[in-house]
Amino acid sequence: MRDIIINGVKIRPGQNIQLDINIARLPTHTLIDLPVFIYRSKVDGPVLLVSGGLHGDEINGIDAVKRMITDNMLKPKRGTVVAIPLINVYGFLSTSRTFPDGRDLNRSFPGSKKGSLASQIAHILTNEILPNIDMGIDFHTGGRMLSNYPQVRADFKDEKSVALAKAFGAPFIINSGLIDKSFRKEAYKKGKPILVYEGGESMRLDELVVKEAIEGTQRLMHHLQMKDQVHEPRESIVMAASTWERAKVSGIFNPTVQYGEKVKKGQMLAKITDPYGRVKVPVKSPYDGFVICLNNLPVVNAGDALIHIGKVE
Ligand SMILES: [Zn+2]
Repeated sequence: MRDIIINGVKIRPGQNIQLDINIARLPTHTLIDLPVFIYRSKVDGPVLLVSGGLHGDEINGIDAVKRMITDNMLKPKRGTVVAIPLINVYGFLSTSRTFPDGRDLNRSFPGSKKGSLASQIAHILTNEILPNIDMGIDFHTGGRMLSNYPQVRADFKDEKSVALAKAFGAPFIINSGLIDKSFRKEAYKKGKPILVYEGGESMRLDELVVKEAIEGTQRLMHHLQMKDQVHEPRESIVMAASTWERAKVSGIFNPTVQYGEKVKKGQMLAKITDPYGRVKVPVKSPYDGFVICLNNLPVVNAGDALIHIGKVE
């Protein structure tokens, strides 16, 4: 069996351990750790990364990974699960997507030992985690007030990722290219597909999103023969293209659809009004599809992203 070595610690077959990787110190000199949970079966098999909180204000994924740890769902019957519930401790503490200097960890890969804080943590993930894993699922949410219906993003040019996305079985699978300097792209370059799960919005817990994250992970583990079947497979709705409907005028945004809802071409999705009843501008769907993300802000400016529609072929 291959060696799994993280932070200088060799993980033996049959071993379940928590490692705390020292990251840095806060200005108070409080030590910041990156806790990593490793569950290794005695039987050889794939190594799956399950991670959340790469953006520190995206809480749904953190909660999902935590629940899978506490409910003992990640111990595989073969292979290994590497679980990191919270990657960006700094962002979590300051309820921010980024690091204190404004850097986005997901634009900092592969990172460097002497770079910014985000770059240093990217370096740890690149050198301690990526060499040990075969594939992964990384949990994200939409931005502030932008609520994604549970979906897995994969680059449709990469067949391995698409197959894993189908096994995960989220309600939606959306085509999404690799972003430069992202964790997903860095892993892809090393031949390791990482799925990005998007669900709900930052700084808001969404039970449906957490439940879908947990069930999808269990399906993925079953697909990888790491676990007996817990949930029935599900055929995701696959969408190769998507567009944002933006506000044509500023005003009060009144959506008449919910996230996840099926919509028809030309259907009225929302209206934008002014506070005095003089303005009423409809927002219509450009094609048949599904609402994959909805802006929950009640007041918008012209140009704001309102509704993200996934296109059904
Ligand atoms: Zn994110």
